[in-house]
Amino acid sequence: MSYESEKINGTLVNYYYTCDREVWLIYHGIESDQEDDNITIGRQIENESYRRDVKQINFLNSKIDIVSKENEILTVSEVKKSSKNLIGTKMQLLYYLKILKEYGIEARGLIRVPTEKKKISVELTQDEENSLNEAIEKIKKLVHGKLPPAKIIHFCKKCAYSEFCWSDEPE
Ligand code: SF4
Repeated sequence: MSYESEKINGTLVNYYYTCDREVWLIYHGIESDQEDDNITIGRQIENESYRRDVKQINFLNSKIDIVSKENEILTVSEVKKSSKNLIGTKMQLLYYLKILKEYGIEARGLIRVPTEKKKISVELTQDEENSLNEAIEKIKKLVHGKLPPAKIIHFCKKCAYSEFCWSDEPE
């Protein structure tokens, strides 16, 4: 699968499970509000937690929060500020595990929630891989189509694009 030429990355996979419009906006390089409180809080947690083993690496259009060795197994992690609604994060990690597997690298995924002192393991099973492949095909279609209309969802309240999507809306 050509990830690089399609510019598909882990962030797009993650947001696919929240909002099609956001996937489209990110893919087309439309910047979200970088001063948005939720982005700032996320960055702070990422920077201040796990100082000893924090390593960010970039590969195939993706930036992985932490890569470490735990019990001799390569582990890729994503750091979250809460354990609510982790489906996108889980699929993002599965996407990294799938790429690494295709490069012959065995790894496991870990969702770290430092504020709750939680670590959640993520493993790439055949079923997960099948649903990930389906999602990737749908993301490709989505980003090559028109900008999806804004739909009010629970996530809008915390979304860095909320001003972009809703500033012209009537009260
Ligand atoms: S504000 Fe709502 S509709 Fe707009 S990108 Fe964010 S989640 Fe999607």
